[in-house]
Amino acid sequence: MSKLPLVEDFYTLQGEGFHAGQAVWFIRLGGCDAGCAWCDAKFTWDAGRFHLVEAEEIAARTSAARAVVVTGGEPLRYPLGPLTDELHARGKEVYLETAGTYPLSGSFDWICLSPKRRRPPLDEIWARADELKVIVAELDDLAWAEQCAARVATDCLLYLQPEWGRMNDITPAIVEYIKANPRWRISLQIHKFMDIP
Ligand code: SF4
Repeated sequence: MSKLPLVEDFYTLQGEGFHAGQAVWFIRLGGCDAGCAWCDAKFTWDAGRFHLVEAEEIAARTSAARAVVVTGGEPLRYPLGPLTDELHARGKEVYLETAGTYPLSGSFDWICLSPKRRRPPLDEIWARADELKVIVAELDDLAWAEQCAARVATDCLLYLQPEWGRMNDITPAIVEYIKANPRWRISLQIHKFMDIP
């Protein structure tokens, strides 16, 4: 299938994780069944709401950007090979944001794995992550983060990101945790501070 349910696509700055601050084209695909209570993209969950668009057409719209982020929803619900082939043919760096709950497809220059406790990633994807980004809403999410870190490759970058709605409450604990465990870094959703998409 080379048609994908496109929620939205836009040129902006990446707000999170390793590529924060970098200009990127976002491609957001519809559909997710992880059911995270604090999800900030609930509007994406029902893939049936969105038009199916050819991968070639989606890729052709990215001309302004050097790098592209494929996100969702959960983008790995779909075979992503046709889209990443089209993007690479246009010389783009292609990054993936995923919870890893469906088989990996496509070819990516960077994989950000953001595992969710309600629906953990498939075994196969842990070792493929370049970046592990764990959302911290409660203190016991730090223990979950360590369980996740034990499953990724030794050179995978480790990020703790305060859940936006709990940021004022939870960030001080994250700061202290990283000071005591400096292999972790903090990731803030800086696009939300800037009020950009
Ligand atoms: S995995 Fe991501 S898109 Fe899906 S419900 Fe959780 S936060 Fe939302």
